[in-house]
Amino acid sequence: MRREPEALIKFFGKLLPENEPVSLAQRLVRFPTENPPGNEAGAIEHLAEVVQDWGFETELLWTDTGRVNLVARLGWGNRSRRILFNGHLDVVPSGDQAAWTREPFEGKIADGRLWGRGAADMKGGVAAMLWAARLIQLSKEQPHDAEIVFHLVSDEETGGTHGAKFLVDHGLARADAAVVGEPTGLNVVVASKGAIWSRLNVKGKSAHGSIPHLGENAIERMADLILRLGDMPLQGEHPLLGPPTINLGTITGGSKINMVPDRCVLEVDRRVLPGESRQAALGQLTRLVEEFRADTGVEVDLEEILYASGYEIDPAEKIVQAALRAAEAVTGEPKEPRGARGFTDARFYFLEAGIPTIILGPGSISQAHAADEFVEIEQLRLSVGLYALIISRFLSGSG
Ligand SMILES: [Zn+2]
Repeated sequence: MRREPEALIKFFGKLLPENEPVSLAQRLVRFPTENPPGNEAGAIEHLAEVVQDWGFETELLWTDTGRVNLVARLGWGNRSRRILFNGHLDVVPSGDQAAWTREPFEGKIADGRLWGRGAADMKGGVAAMLWAARLIQLSKEQPHDAEIVFHLVSDEETGGTHGAKFLVDHGLARADAAVVGEPTGLNVVVASKGAIWSRLNVKGKSAHGSIPHLGENAIERMADLILRLGDMPLQGEHPLLGPPTINLGTITGGSKINMVPDRCVLEVDRRVLPGESRQAALGQLTRLVEEFRADTGVEVDLEEILYASGYEIDPAEKIVQAALRAAEAVTGEPKEPRGARGFTDARFYFLEAGIPTIILGPGSISQAHAADEFVEIEQLRLSVGLYALIISRFLSGSG
């Protein structure tokens, strides 16, 4: 029997125990999984217990760096059609406590919101995707010959090497489509920027602050280099993502007010568009540094800290169309494919495992990494129905 989306949503809504997804998200927020250092294990082991109780198959995979990832599966028949959901359990540090009016790891529910670090990014999404599968399991809308796979991972906030990438590298990402439940305000994201993070190290020569002419001031030299970085042209514009950007994120230099600093270090966050190559973006920075070195004789080196490629998928992909239709049905609003400026684990699934991957989840991206982070409970609950609808339609092959 095929139900219309509205009927299906209502049906799932009735099945959904009032507070369960919110309570699961709340329990997850109460694990302080700050990364760094990345102590996700408690939250991930808790999830393994929860879904084992539901009858999902689970596998905990530990990296040799002591990080853990959970692969959970719910399947029917020969499992020939498969949808994968990814969620990370690490959160960025809560930061300056004075900026918070709520306890970051208390998981307080007030004003229709679940508050706390990770509520939006992305423990709300994790709770919702698991409950969506649970609803499918409890319902009579069971797919045939299909499987729902969850990658509940560590290490997203510091690059994903020990999390999603680890699972992809171990051949555990095989699916017809993937959904990364990062906060998008229930919009369907089909493109995101990547990033090259680099560190510029300018060397000078120290001297006493009363005789600066005998030293070489690394901070002053860095100031020259920063002006050049500001003039560096950034080419290109993406219809969903806008232009590439550059942000000077941190600077350190000098050890004492009365000394000429012999070292100044700048960290630069250059965001790249899908299709903009690592070589091209890094090459531009390298040339700028080489020119600076040639013009000034200043010793400066450039070190790459992190690279994440941008990615985009064709909006005509089945998963995109299924998600757009489901999001329209659930929210009652028209939906268009969107772009996301931050990079996520989605890139591993698409670029390394070849899986059409969207990003879609409850909560606002403006909440991610902010003080007083929250997810709206209504949105969390809607996303359960939304994911369930996507699963149901995608696995039944009706798109
Ligand atoms: Zn995230």
